[in-house]
Amino acid sequence: MSLSGKREKLRDPFEIARNRMVDNQIVARGIKDPRVIAAMRKVPRHLFVDEALWDQAYGDFPLPIGEGQTISQPYIVALMTEALQLQGDEKVLEIGTGSGYQTAILAELARKVYSIERVPSLVERARRVLAQLGYTNVVIRLGDGTKGWPEEAPFEAIIVTAGGPKIPEPLLNQLADGGRLVIPVGDEYSQDLVRVTRVGKRLVTENFGGVRFVKLIGDHGWRA
Ligand code: SAM
Repeated sequence: MSLSGKREKLRDPFEIARNRMVDNQIVARGIKDPRVIAAMRKVPRHLFVDEALWDQAYGDFPLPIGEGQTISQPYIVALMTEALQLQGDEKVLEIGTGSGYQTAILAELARKVYSIERVPSLVERARRVLAQLGYTNVVIRLGDGTKGWPEEAPFEAIIVTAGGPKIPEPLLNQLADGGRLVIPVGDEYSQDLVRVTRVGKRLVTENFGGVRFVKLIGDHGWRA
């Protein structure tokens, strides 16, 4: 086979679909952070869902990942990530690893990512995919993320990718001065995407609009 033929074979067959996703769903809707846009052009989202769903992986919707859970809509991943305002040197806490796709985006943009997931099979699968893709700045732990990860606190950024009835108090306590916490808060069916920024002892809250997430289940979330 010629060299150009070999190159063609090695190319990611979803690269065109991924760039179209970024142009039409993310940039067109107002996401501006060039680092977030570059990360979303790079991470192969299809590898985080079952092979039977690969051809839908770049669509404008969430997809099932098993255990009644979902990988979030690409635009929502971009919106939440941009809201974290990552510069590259942060320690980030993620609650709700799910497929590990959002974890990979964070790993592209921050120094180290600590991620917590409550479903054992999802932890195993996310660990495997992230290792195969070569991410070495990610640690995933099985447990109730509403309690945070006190041994590693404080965090410059915290992202919760499941909807809670309120902001879990331990997460606010583990937010560094100047740090940003992004979380969907509301009832079981709809939530507001909220960003809380710690300024010394003060917490500044901003609302990014309505979203719909699966439930955040835990001591400081919904009951199982
Ligand atoms: N960000 C994920 C992705 O890219 O695939 C999607 C996450 S999915 C919408 C929400 C995840 O939060 C589910 O996998 C669910 O099991 C998890 N979850 C819910 N409550 C949790 C808790 N208290 N601690 C850790 N994970 C939790």
